[in-house]
Amino acid sequence: MPVQAAEYDSYDEYRLRKLVSELEDKEGRGTELISLYIPPKRAISEVARDLREEASTASNIKSKSTRKNVTDAIESILQKLKLFREPPENGLVIFCGAIPHGGPGTERMEIHVLEPPKPINVYLYRCDARFVLEPIKDLLSEKEVYGLIVMDRAEATFALLHGRNIEILHNITSGIPGKHHAGGQSARRFQRIIEQVAHEFYVRIGEYANKYFLDKQLKGIIIGGPGPNKNEFAEGNFMHYSLQEKIIGLVDTGYTSDEGVRELINRAEDLLQQSKLVHEKKVFNTLMETMVKDPSHVAIGPREVLEKIDKIKTLVVSEESKDSVAVFTCKACGKKSGELLSEGNTVAAKTKKCPYCGGVMMNGPIEPLVSFLADAVRERKRTVELLSTKTEEGEQLKNSFLGCAAMLD
Ligand SMILES: [Zn+2]
Repeated sequence: MPVQAAEYDSYDEYRLRKLVSELEDKEGRGTELISLYIPPKRAISEVARDLREEASTASNIKSKSTRKNVTDAIESILQKLKLFREPPENGLVIFCGAIPHGGPGTERMEIHVLEPPKPINVYLYRCDARFVLEPIKDLLSEKEVYGLIVMDRAEATFALLHGRNIEILHNITSGIPGKHHAGGQSARRFQRIIEQVAHEFYVRIGEYANKYFLDKQLKGIIIGGPGPNKNEFAEGNFMHYSLQEKIIGLVDTGYTSDEGVRELINRAEDLLQQSKLVHEKKVFNTLMETMVKDPSHVAIGPREVLEKIDKIKTLVVSEESKDSVAVFTCKACGKKSGELLSEGNTVAAKTKKCPYCGGVMMNGPIEPLVSFLADAVRERKRTVELLSTKTEEGEQLKNSFLGCAAMLD
């Protein structure tokens, strides 16, 4: 069973999340760290004009060092903006400021320019002691979209969960009175008719689910509701099979309708956490299966994976990998090759023979193993799977596989 290309690009996301969490810890000596969010349609010339205005306001700052740092940061941003004729497709986010690395005078100017994973809708300039990260964090969580259905045999509500935002899509009813309307037992002879109407209602729910969810890149579907109807629906294959496969759980709620959707989200938090872990387990299990059935198509451990780098179909690496490589670049053909550095050893040979063309490769910078491998694999449009150590499988990858394995073409 081949691993599906991850619907979310776990590596992109990881890289951005890591940067955001690093920035979160940074604090300026004064109110002097600048965050700038530029939406896609905003003219760069307009942004530059606003920045020059901010610079002239900053000239009134009393503290000499803060004044200098703010003006320098604005100047660095203006320089970066010159590289853009217009903002990229999703806009642009820039963080810039002098970060202290010890006592006074140890500040170093840092600038981070990033293109968000989804269009940024806010135009914001802020100068503060810390960077403003909420908009980018919201974007990161919005990338994860779940489909929600809350139902009983009386009504069904369809919604999407983007990060923390709920989007109610549609509500349909069956005509069968809900539980709270039911007055005692219905006569036995009506029971069959009611069941038939309920079945037809499930069919309709399935059709609406297909209509609303099929074209979305959902990470999962959660079905909630007060009674056993949601189970009947989930087990009856009323949705397209690709949606059926995305059901990550059923949740009991007291209500249906919008109220029920909100209830569902509160109760489903664990499930949402789980779904990422389930994906990680699947990836690892596929790796194990391949290893048993087809060992020649698996590489285990950093050294072997680096050797087979051009054959990697799915790279499976641990978030916790601490290995680094010395990156050699060929002077003749321009290709790169990474040599694993053993622990604490930062020195590799100065040159080596190019495995591709036989030319001379020069020793360049040292890079984390994970980013070196991931960049190479992504360049060939293959899949990178990044595993946490929150599952036993992830722990095994880290310990028994030295944090790195690959399935090969
Ligand atoms: Zn070469």
